[in-house]
Amino acid sequence: MAEKFKAPRGTFDVLPEQSAQRERVHQAAREIFGLAGYRFIMTPSFEETSLFERGVGKSTDIVRKEMFTFEDKGGRSLTLRPEGTAPICRAYVEHGMHRLPQPVKLFYAGPFFRHERPQAGRYRQFNQIGAEAIGSDSPLVDVEVITLISDLIEELGVPGVELKLGSLGSLDARANYLEELKSHLRSRAEELSEDVRERIEINPLRAFDSDHEGTKAVMADAPLLLDHLSEEDAEHFEEVKSLLGAASVEFTIDPTLVRGLDYYTRTIFSFVCDRLGAQSEIGGGGRYDGLIEQLGGPATPAVGWAAGIERMLLALDEEVTSPGMDLFIALADLELRTKAVALAAELRHHGLAVEMDLAGRSMKGQFKQADRVGAAHVLILEPGGSASLRNMETGDQQTVDPKAVASLIRP
Ligand code: AMP
Repeated sequence: MAEKFKAPRGTFDVLPEQSAQRERVHQAAREIFGLAGYRFIMTPSFEETSLFERGVGKSTDIVRKEMFTFEDKGGRSLTLRPEGTAPICRAYVEHGMHRLPQPVKLFYAGPFFRHERPQAGRYRQFNQIGAEAIGSDSPLVDVEVITLISDLIEELGVPGVELKLGSLGSLDARANYLEELKSHLRSRAEELSEDVRERIEINPLRAFDSDHEGTKAVMADAPLLLDHLSEEDAEHFEEVKSLLGAASVEFTIDPTLVRGLDYYTRTIFSFVCDRLGAQSEIGGGGRYDGLIEQLGGPATPAVGWAAGIERMLLALDEEVTSPGMDLFIALADLELRTKAVALAAELRHHGLAVEMDLAGRSMKGQFKQADRVGAAHVLILEPGGSASLRNMETGDQQTVDPKAVASLIRP
C-alpha cells in the first residue's frame, strides 16, 4: 500500500464537527466590530519579505527565526504573512487611505504562519482575528479597540481572562530609558541568557519576556519604562486608564509588559487566560504610531490587536453540538427517489434543513441514519403517493400530504 500523508508539523485540519464553534467566533466578531463601524479587509497570504523585516523588526524572533520565506520564479523574496498589522499598513499606504476620514477602522481574519516549535496552543499555521484603527492618536481609539476584543471575549464566554495593560512611551521619549536599561543589562551580562545577551543593543526590552532564571533575576532589579514616561506619554496613558474605567473594562497594570513585535509605542495590552498553560495569551496589541511612516506613508498614529482563534477555542473547551436537521426523507422503495430528490430540493428552498437517504438503506437503517443526523422529523414516502410523518421526539406518526410537510414541521 502507498504511504499515507499527514498534515505538516504544527498544522491541523479543522474537521466538520469543529467548524460550528469557529463560525460562532467569526459571527460574534463580525457583529461586534460592525456595530462599532469597523469594516472587513483582506490582504494576501504572502507579501514581500522586506515588509516584515522593516515592519515587524529585524531584531524580533519572528523575523530572525520564524518566517516561511521563499523565492518566487522571478527571484523575488516573499514571506507567508506571520502577522496582520504590517500588511494592513502596507494596504493603507498603497491605497492612499490617509485621504479618507480618520481613523480608518478595519478588521481582518485569516491564517498566519510562523515557524515556531509546535506545542498546545502554538502552531505553524494558526488563525487570527484582529482590528486596527489607523489615523488617530486619541486615547479614545485605544479604548475603543480594547473594548472590541474585550466584548468579543465576553460574548464568547471565554473564562478566566485578565487584561494586562502597559505603556512603552513614544519612540523618541523612550530612547533615554533604553540607554539606562542597556547599561543595567550590560552590567550583569554574564547572568543573562545567550539570546537576551545577543540582543542587548538591538532589543533590550525583550529581556522582560524571558523565562530564563538568570535573566529573570536581572530583570527584577531593572529600571521600569512606566517610571520613565515623558509627560505627554504619561498623560496619554492616564487618559486610556480612566476611559477604560468609564467603559467598564477591568485591567491590571503590568509595568514589565512587552510585546514580540518592534513597532509598538505607548499603550500595549495583553489578554491572558488562566486555562491555557504556557501559551496563555488569547490576544494582544497596542499602539504603533511610527509604523506607517516606516513603511513609506505619512506620519500616522494607529492602534490595533490580534487574537488567536485556536487559543479562544482551547480556552472555551466546549462540547460541540451538531445543529441537527429539520427533516429526514426515508424511502419505502428506491423507485421513490425521484420524488424524494424533488421534495428535498423544494423544502430546502423553503429554508428547511433536509437530508434524505443516499445509501439505499433498509427502512430500519434509514431511521438509524435520521437519528445520527439529529433529524427532528422523518417523512416516509410510500408507493402510491402516500406519506407519513414521524415526530422523532414524541414518536407520534400521522399520514400527511407531502406537499403540506413544510407547514407541518416549520420550527
Ligand atoms: P501576536 O501577533 O504575536 O501579537 O499574537 C497575537 C495572538 O495570536 C496571540 O495572543 C495568540 O493568541 C495568537 N498566536 C500567536 N502566535 C501563535 C501561534 N504560533 N499559534 C497559535 N496562536 C498564535
